[in-house]
Amino acid sequence: MATIKVVNVAQKHTFTWYEKFYFYSIAKGMGITLKHFIKSAFLGKRVTLEYPEKKRQYSSRFRGMHSLKRDEQGRERCTSCFCCMWICPADAIYIEATETTPEDQHLHPEDKYAKTFEIDLLRCIFCGLCEEACPKGAIYLDGNGEMATDNRQDLILTKERMTEKVGGPIIGQRN
Ligand code: SF4
Ligand code: SF4
Repeated sequence: MATIKVVNVAQKHTFTWYEKFYFYSIAKGMGITLKHFIKSAFLGKRVTLEYPEKKRQYSSRFRGMHSLKRDEQGRERCTSCFCCMWICPADAIYIEATETTPEDQHLHPEDKYAKTFEIDLLRCIFCGLCEEACPKGAIYLDGNGEMATDNRQDLILTKERMTEKVGGPIIGQRN
């Protein structure tokens, strides 16, 4: 039978005298702060921007915000199949389906559509799986948008904010 050897890592590590008094780490941290202060105040090398007057460019690898597409006839492509919701690894998508009535058939191609479609950007990891899983080509990560906000509610993308306008640009994204 195999024996398990327990190693006490804390006991094995021997602390030097300056590690025990924390002075070294405090001084090191203060030195880094001072270095950035001098760079910023006297050399004009700031690591921060005066947002929102100045904005940093997103990386070219950033996929973009979610948008919900319409077909050539202006109908919502999403048929509320839930594929994107099920595949989302971050559990960021919430959909409520409803049946298409004869009155709104001109807006929805199939017998059901998403009454509610929300994406929680606080959970989303921008993996793009929702886009890949969608059998209708209804959801894409290609929209513009700002991630900075002082309000959590702004980070819930609603259907109204994501859905393309008929013949127009994506609505609801904050520029
Ligand atoms: S991009 Fe990924 S994490 Fe974000 S909603 Fe789509 S599947 Fe979920
Ligand atoms: S966006 Fe696509 S995958 Fe998601 S519910 Fe609508 S049709 Fe299905």
